[in-house]
Amino acid sequence: MIKSKEKGLLIVVSGPSGCGKSTLNQSLLKMRKNIVMSISDTTRKPRNGEKNKVDYNFISKEEFLKNIDNKKYLEYASYADNYYGTPIKRVDDNLNKGIDVILEIDIEGARKVNELRKDAIFIFIMPPSMKVLKERLVARKTETKEQIVERFKTAYKEINEVSKYNYVIVNDDINESLNKMNAILTCEKCRVDRIEDVDLGNKEELIHEILTN
Ligand code: 5GP
Repeated sequence: MIKSKEKGLLIVVSGPSGCGKSTLNQSLLKMRKNIVMSISDTTRKPRNGEKNKVDYNFISKEEFLKNIDNKKYLEYASYADNYYGTPIKRVDDNLNKGIDVILEIDIEGARKVNELRKDAIFIFIMPPSMKVLKERLVARKTETKEQIVERFKTAYKEINEVSKYNYVIVNDDINESLNKMNAILTCEKCRVDRIEDVDLGNKEELIHEILTN
């Protein structure tokens, strides 16, 4: 009866380093159908356990700069002295197939996507407190103390941008946060501006059936 847009949803998820957004996104992929993560290009070195072409496409700075020239990115940004960018092709190929795409990107990238894609959804993941964020960053042991301080300082700037997002989730309890994220996507799918066509069938025929049965 109602035909909704077949294009997938473009979902931007940001939040300070250590807020738990990667864990949340990975869990969301297991919970919902027809949804993928965009795999970013980065010039950052892989962390222990990170896989090339799964977590990121790890590339050189030269290659990244060449890709910028060749307009390969929907958006890109520099974060903690490294480049990160979203390859546009995989995003659009999936959206056109009706598959939802999550971009896990920083606030600068989110700002760019907001200018370019008016129908994107913006979700900000907030730590329960700065103390908890600090503890999570220290506990994961993936950065040096100096790098942690850098990321921690950036977190304050990022949190100031929260009002530019459509939704905020305070990530205290992972299951609760996951349910909220799932609910947001389900609601977004029901928005009336996604309706493309309404087919109510033949009114006269239906009325005739009422009268003759
Ligand atoms: P990390 O080094 O912790 O993996 O990522 C650092 C920051 O870069 C995070 O906020 C992450 O969301 C962001 N990021 C990852 N990929 C991209 C991307 O393609 N574009 C932008 N703008 N930010 C990204």
